[in-house]
Amino acid sequence: MDGMELNDSQLLIRDQYRKFMTTELEAATPAMESGAELPFPFIKKMHAELGAALGVEEGDDEETRSLASWARTQLVIEIARVNPGFGLSWGVTIGLCAGNIMRSGTPDQKARYLPGLLSGDKVGCWCLTEPGAGSDAFGSMRTIAKRDGDHYILNGSKTFITNAPYGDIFLVYARNQEDESIQAFIVERELEGLSVGKPFKKMGMKSSPTGEVFFDDVRVPAENLLGAGMRDRDHVRKSLAGERIGIAVMGLGIAERCFEIARDYAKERVQGGHAISNYQLIQNRLARMYVALSNARRFVYEQGDVSILDACAGKLYVAEVGTFVAQEAIHIMGGYGYLEEQTVERLARDAKLLELGGGTTEIQILTIARHILEQ
Ligand SMILES: Cc1cc2nc3c(=O)[nH]c(=O)nc-3n(C[C@H](O)[C@H](O)[C@H](O)COP(=O)(O)OP(=O)(O)OC[C@H]3O[C@@H](n4cnc5c(N)ncnc54)[C@H](O)[C@@H]3O)c2cc1C
Repeated sequence: MDGMELNDSQLLIRDQYRKFMTTELEAATPAMESGAELPFPFIKKMHAELGAALGVEEGDDEETRSLASWARTQLVIEIARVNPGFGLSWGVTIGLCAGNIMRSGTPDQKARYLPGLLSGDKVGCWCLTEPGAGSDAFGSMRTIAKRDGDHYILNGSKTFITNAPYGDIFLVYARNQEDESIQAFIVERELEGLSVGKPFKKMGMKSSPTGEVFFDDVRVPAENLLGAGMRDRDHVRKSLAGERIGIAVMGLGIAERCFEIARDYAKERVQGGHAISNYQLIQNRLARMYVALSNARRFVYEQGDVSILDACAGKLYVAEVGTFVAQEAIHIMGGYGYLEEQTVERLARDAKLLELGGGTTEIQILTIARHILEQ
């Protein structure tokens, strides 16, 4: 049951990713979830074996580009079907940290930071949220950058930062004291005055370490101002749109896997002399899960180069589908679904983060409303 016809090239790629995730990532997941292993060595392994995702070369034709874009989405789905927490740590290093440097960095910044991040040798972080600045990340931002000759001096702190306890390269948003604009700085772990907290204990996404970063008179070379200092917020908005699409894709992976597990369980589990899938009240749940899943699929696969409005709409919808389908899967499995050993139990805990990170449900709704009322 896929709901989407795949061509031969797509099937080949999907099967290669699925095989790798269901064998290698599945096997590595218990140690990542317990904290015995960090997710980072697995990033290297995955990149080495799958070639990250298909790269696009200058001059590639439309078909190759479109297949590469499809493959990148599929990779995220296949990861999220097995371990969304690993996907979060990987996505922040590759998508948010390296991705922003790739999109907006100077040639020198790209040459300096991208090879380490893209190979998985360096751990990347993306630092926007602060203790007092979550949903109102820009308006309430207190981290300050003050110019001092050919350096900026950073003071403040960030919290809820994915990968922070083990980060090497931090992309940090700070308020420039000169003109109050928000700018992004590439900050290396070794700089004096930068420190990190211990990993938080969380409800889910346990494979992904999260924590605080503190800046105490950190002297950052001016050449580390991302893109030599963009003052408009457009690059941040683009980055947020990319993050929201990534979150929607993860929600689809979670929903797909939970639906499949619940459907197969319902066909096997016998109560009152019948498989529970014969009971119409169970069929009702499965049918509604399927409707949500197939709508989520359309959102994700039809995305492409989307507007901020569509990124918010997709993120809002698919994140909620992830939680809904995962909770329904637990319900269909009864008491067994509630046991820690069940994949749906873990995926349901992981799914909730998708409704919070990258802007909460409320923030998506407010942004959607603002855009549609402007039209
Ligand atoms: C596991 C995890 C990983 C994360 N990774 C990162 C990361 O790598 N980098 C990063 O920068 N951040 C990260 N975050 C932070 C995340 O983006 C924030 O938690 C999120 O934006 C919400 O901010 P907050 O937690 O301060 O909640 P608050 O902003 O305090 O919100 C609390 C509640 O109030 C609601 N609310 C707030 N404002 C309004 C309003 N105007 N109208 C109506 N309701 C409102 C919210 O929707 C929410 O329900 C991560 C968070 C978690 C949990």
